[in-house]
Amino acid sequence: MGRLLIIGCGGVAGVAIHKCCQNSKTFSEICIASRTKEKCDTLKKKLEATTDTKITTAQVNADKVEELVALIRSYQPDAVLNVALPYQDLTIMEACLECKVDYIDTANYEPEDTDDPEWRAIYEKRCKEAGFTAYFDYSWQWAYRERFKEAGITALLGSGFDPGVTSVFTAYAMKHYFDQIDTIDILDCNGGDHGYPFATNFNPEINLREVSANGSYWENGHWVETEPMEIKREYNFPQVGEKDMYLLHHEEIESLAKNVPGVKRIRFFMTFGQSYLTHMKCLENVGMLSTSPINYEGREIVPIQFLKALLPDPASLGPRTVGKTNIGCIFTGKKDGKEKTIYIYNVCDHQECYKEVGSQAISYTTGVPAMIGAALVVDKVWDKDGVFNIEEFDPDPFMDMLNQYGLPWVVDEDPQIVE
Ligand code: NDP
Repeated sequence: MGRLLIIGCGGVAGVAIHKCCQNSKTFSEICIASRTKEKCDTLKKKLEATTDTKITTAQVNADKVEELVALIRSYQPDAVLNVALPYQDLTIMEACLECKVDYIDTANYEPEDTDDPEWRAIYEKRCKEAGFTAYFDYSWQWAYRERFKEAGITALLGSGFDPGVTSVFTAYAMKHYFDQIDTIDILDCNGGDHGYPFATNFNPEINLREVSANGSYWENGHWVETEPMEIKREYNFPQVGEKDMYLLHHEEIESLAKNVPGVKRIRFFMTFGQSYLTHMKCLENVGMLSTSPINYEGREIVPIQFLKALLPDPASLGPRTVGKTNIGCIFTGKKDGKEKTIYIYNVCDHQECYKEVGSQAISYTTGVPAMIGAALVVDKVWDKDGVFNIEEFDPDPFMDMLNQYGLPWVVDEDPQIVE
């Protein structure tokens, strides 16, 4: 019996909300609140006849702490699930603190305007000190640790797939398979085809920023940075087949490097087809990925936001996308003095997801764990005061719920390794 306030009503939120409605025992009531209330109302209409969960909706601008505080005070939720954009992480955390309500999200904070001089000064200092140049990092949210602890509330960071499930796979491997993990390779393969020459599977702005940035990995206690797409490997993914994959910077590397004692190397690879990479390079070369506003015929526009308006809405890819995703982690290390390698992964079928919840597998693989993380916090199965990454909790109940809610996983004890 719990009450969840869900902020955002896009691709990921749509799946998380479907899944909350399949888990009415925990979520007896949910409120869907977003910038565009009509989207929340449409989803409510679609779902309310199919579930015992009582659904209400609200309009909120999550950039404004005072609007969030007013909504939280009037709805009185047990927790807030942030499935809006990473830009809103800090305002939503601030509002949760003010109202003493637990907080869950799926992506770490990054600013909307990377030219903001105040943010830029902190960013440039961090680049020098930490050794990686990604626009996003955990420092902003980790800075809330003491205040959340004092308030007696939980912030659960990164309850999507990657970060999220991949981090839980790591905690599970540490708990059940290894005395010492030496290396982690996180492999994110999308073998799906939507038939468009170019489209992104989740929010284009967030996706394109991530992919066009420098790559980096963690090795022997420090970051090693690469040019974008500099490191390429091939891998034969179970149930998907042979794919090219590229090393990217990814946010869970930062927290896993802190939370996996003695880990020597952590890398993240994502698969991309040639058409995607060629389009992205071209858009980047002509300035369409820029987040800096330009003046066009007397009106200020942000190029990447304009591009977003031209590209297919990720939520509309569901009916067209066929194929499977395979996302997981290869761990090497030692158990009882012996070398050991395991690969834990999930395979998800785009069309199966579409049949069940009306969306493709990328939103599905993020929305399901968002619901699971929120359920474990609302049910107080995960109950610690402070700000925590997901691998800092007991992985077992989360792993059980993955099997129960549509993301079954496999442990392969003799996998192909990545060179
Ligand atoms: P979408 O763009 O589809 O949805 C974002 C939603 O947030 C929209 O409903 C949007 O409203 C709403 N929103 C944006 N700004 C505000 C605001 N100021 N106030 C209120 N609502 C707002 O994004 P996705 O669903 O693809 O992604 C959601 C989150 O999931 C992102 O943070 C993304 O980084 C994360 N993610 C995490 C993954 C993981 O594995 N960990 C993988 C994929 C995504 P409107 O409808 O008005 O635009």
